Amino acid sequence: MPHPRPLAETNGATARDPKGFKTVILDAGHGGKDPGAVSCHSGQQEKDLTLDMAHRIRKELGGSFHTILMRSDDEFTDLDDRVTRANRHGDAVLVSIHFNSGASHLRGPETYYWRVDSHGLAVRLQREMTSTSPAEQGNRGLVRRRLRLTRNPEIPCVLIEGGYLSHPAESRLIADSAYRQKLAAAIAQAIRA
Ligand SMILES: [Zn+2]
Repeated sequence: MPHPRPLAETNGATARDPKGFKTVILDAGHGGKDPGAVSCHSGQQEKDLTLDMAHRIRKELGGSFHTILMRSDDEFTDLDDRVTRANRHGDAVLVSIHFNSGASHLRGPETYYWRVDSHGLAVRLQREMTSTSPAEQGNRGLVRRRLRLTRNPEIPCVLIEGGYLSHPAESRLIADSAYRQKLAAAIAQAIRA
């Protein structure tokens, strides 16, 4: 069990909300040689779905923020490079987009964060995604966990899992572009709030 760092060390931030950010970095998980999860129901690869979602969320955000795509193509980016690139922006939040895989009964979105200043954004992201997702079952919901992408960036950062590709019905939903658009709108709404 890793020893949690005292909260005060989290970049000196004590506020539970990212304040006054102008830039949103959308990180489409995986890419290139790393497909991420692959749905055994639709054959879809996580890396393609996360990129699709990043583009959709950017469109939904419109001109309200300066939006940066960590990758805009099917390219491989090392996790540490993603962290380094995120740290170049001081007034930004990072949203890393993933889809999940696990036991076949699990479904529903999950949200991971570590930094205290990411909590408010994480809560809103989980709430908005859950209100779009028709059912949740046995999933973990909102989780505070040290992942490389939730711990290492020096800006507020949240990792979202948009649903389980391993669940037959949820995989079908995720394969539907209208559903992905609804999910993207919900995520953009949570970022704007
Ligand atoms: Zn992933």
